[in-house]
Amino acid sequence: MIVASAHEAARVAGLRHAPTRSIRGQLTLLPPGAAPSLSLPVIGEGYAIPLPDGVTLTGATYELDDVETSLRPAGHLENIERVAQMLPAFARSAAYLDHPDHADAAAVTGRVAFRCVTSDRMPMIGNIADETLAARDAERLRGAWSLDLPRAPGFHSAFAYGSRGLVWAALGAELIASQIEGEPWPLERDLAEGIDPARFLLRALRQGSVVG
Ligand SMILES: Cc1cc2nc3c(=O)[nH]c(=O)nc-3n(C[C@H](O)[C@H](O)[C@H](O)COP(=O)(O)OP(=O)(O)OC[C@H]3O[C@@H](n4cnc5c(N)ncnc54)[C@H](O)[C@@H]3O)c2cc1C
Repeated sequence: MIVASAHEAARVAGLRHAPTRSIRGQLTLLPPGAAPSLSLPVIGEGYAIPLPDGVTLTGATYELDDVETSLRPAGHLENIERVAQMLPAFARSAAYLDHPDHADAAAVTGRVAFRCVTSDRMPMIGNIADETLAARDAERLRGAWSLDLPRAPGFHSAFAYGSRGLVWAALGAELIASQIEGEPWPLERDLAEGIDPARFLLRALRQGSVVG
């Protein structure tokens, strides 16, 4: 079983040592004429991506623990200003937003979604630990390493990808497939330990805060 349900994953998998938070992200879709015409995506601190029909996608805002699902004009402005730092011609898109005719929601649209992150901003990919067994053996596991932890056979996770899910998902899937098949991993062990879903349990064991 592979738990891959983002914010719900820790609850679904019954993990107590999986500190996740939510980061709101707002995207902006600029209508034709509202942004300089681009022939290629431009990506840096923010991004501007030309879509079909003259629409330009810019993004994205980054708001920790903000649950608001509706679009905000301030978020659109923030996205455009970030792109304008790379492409100064986008300053006129900010002026477009300010124009009374364009201030309504119909002129500039977008989307809001929520990134799932851990407290160390790394994803939770791999074989899940058996937290009940580890808690029972907490005293012995105080100085444990990742390899010493009891694992839940056949139980894996892939969540908390934060802002990098599209980039990292295939590598994460390959790591899990390798663990299941007993094949060489596509990552060095220390990198895999950096995204090990058991790393917060391991830290708690070392701190002596896991009660048996
Ligand atoms: C605004 C924004 C911009 C982004 N930009 C980029 C980018 O430029 N590059 C990049 O690589 N990544 C980007 N990301 C991140 C990327 O979108 C996420 O990392 C990726 O979607 C995470 O994939 P996921 O499958 O882990 O979670 P999600 O895509 O959130 O999927 C989780 C799924 O679990 C389902 N689910 C929840 N609870 C349950 C349950 N109890 N039972 C069954 N199913 C359940 C949900 O319905 C959902 O379908 C961005 C994210 C946002 C919000």
